[in-house]
Amino acid sequence: MSAYPSLYMLIDGNRVGANGRRTHAVINPADGATLGELPLADPADLDTALAAAQRGFRTWREAPAATRAAVLHGAARLLEERKDAIARIATLEQGKPLAETRIEVGMVANLFAFYAGECQRLYGRALVRPTGTRSTVVHEPVGVVAAFAPWNFPLANPGRKLGAPIAAGCAVIMKPAEETPASALAVVQALLDAGLPTDVAQIVFGVPDEVSRHLLASPIVRKLSFTGSTAVGRHLARLATDNMQRTTMELGGHGPVLVFDDADLARALDTVVPHKFRNAGQVCVSPTRFIVQDGIFAAFCDGFVARARALRVGDGLDHTTQMGPMANARRPEAMDRLIGDAVARGGRLLTGGRRPAEMGANAGFYYAPSVLADVPIDAAIMQEEPFGPIAILNRFADEDAMIAEANRLPYGLAAYAWTADARRQHRLARALEAGMVGINTTMIAAADSPFGGVKWSGHGSEDGIEGVLACMVTKAVHEG
Ligand code: NAD
Repeated sequence: MSAYPSLYMLIDGNRVGANGRRTHAVINPADGATLGELPLADPADLDTALAAAQRGFRTWREAPAATRAAVLHGAARLLEERKDAIARIATLEQGKPLAETRIEVGMVANLFAFYAGECQRLYGRALVRPTGTRSTVVHEPVGVVAAFAPWNFPLANPGRKLGAPIAAGCAVIMKPAEETPASALAVVQALLDAGLPTDVAQIVFGVPDEVSRHLLASPIVRKLSFTGSTAVGRHLARLATDNMQRTTMELGGHGPVLVFDDADLARALDTVVPHKFRNAGQVCVSPTRFIVQDGIFAAFCDGFVARARALRVGDGLDHTTQMGPMANARRPEAMDRLIGDAVARGGRLLTGGRRPAEMGANAGFYYAPSVLADVPIDAAIMQEEPFGPIAILNRFADEDAMIAEANRLPYGLAAYAWTADARRQHRLARALEAGMVGINTTMIAAADSPFGGVKWSGHGSEDGIEGVLACMVTKAVHEG
């Protein structure tokens, strides 16, 4: 039996347990067993969190940049020291293999270390005019940030939601996903142990719609940061309008991957197949629509299917596992629906499309790596983000048609292309409507690089200096 920590909220410096509150069962997706009971906030808890955050903001905005940097550096060190224990908790809650959760701990540590540097370089600028008048442009922290982090990256999402406001001098009220609370609490604990004042970060859980309505109705909250589906993002953006809260919205995607006849086939397959099935495909930048040129199509399909079939699916705690279960019971049901619809409309299922037989009677939320080919454009999966281990391989004749298909959907998060032609690489970098473009690579996220989308995939960036500036407002001071 693996150790799983006790669960609580962190409100005004107190660990708040159930004590008569409603609770939510946290489930291990690898076997369906209950790991713990999570207390859910009532309105009074949220009011306490709002008041504490307001107080926290008043002190943290005055903290010297070196103090904020020391907290972030300290937390980065503690996360590295605690990597094994934290990775285990995240795998228990979310299902992805330990190798992936260990990388995720490192991602948060890197991001905190990067922000520790950036927060010491948040300079304004002086406008000294030939006439002698002067103005100063300064960046100031926006205030209290309400942040909502989903379950697919149980460590990296809370890390992003906390790191940027803390670097900028804001206070945060974060509601991590109810599916993965202990991972979020481990990230916060590293910050607190590194000296973050307790009123700067409030952590609440609850019924998502109740929490977001309550927090966004408060004038104390000056910014909303949300990662999740476009439908929920749209709803929250509307709520934020009433109080004119600023927003960073990291929403869904439907990643196109253009593969041209001149691509290095083996390298492309060795890179995109593991990337597709990482985290069982529950990744907003997951490659989903493979837009493959005629001449390479048959070989690409064969190579893709062979690699997908070779993946070892199992419990993420088993070191030999390459793909874990899906995060909750809703996801395999969604996969069955999307694949059933695609096949009914004439798509070909090349592999998968079911629960892996080798999982037997295990009650976990497993789904086999699945590959569809020749899927007609009217299939639901050609419009809807599958958010799961399904790749769609479709055949195209030329570059213009491939770009048109890539840009067809209202999403614009990540797009990928594989081609050896340097001039085409430049054309694609300009033509693809996406916040992030990977040319002959799937490495599109890094601490120093802005992460975010265009169109229905949202607006604003996390990571990079852009992530910190998104938690700041600009003021111009004029001297007569
Ligand atoms: P969902 O849309 O119900 O929830 C997505 C996330 O939003 C969850 O973390 C949830 O707690 C939160 N949420 C939902 N309603 C909310 C509200 N009213 N106020 C505040 N937060 C709210 O879907 P789900 O079944 O949990 O996840 C599946 C879908 O979510 C996928 O299809 C995918 O598009 C999307 N998703 C996207 C990301 C991402 O990284 N962009 C991450 C997780 C989920």
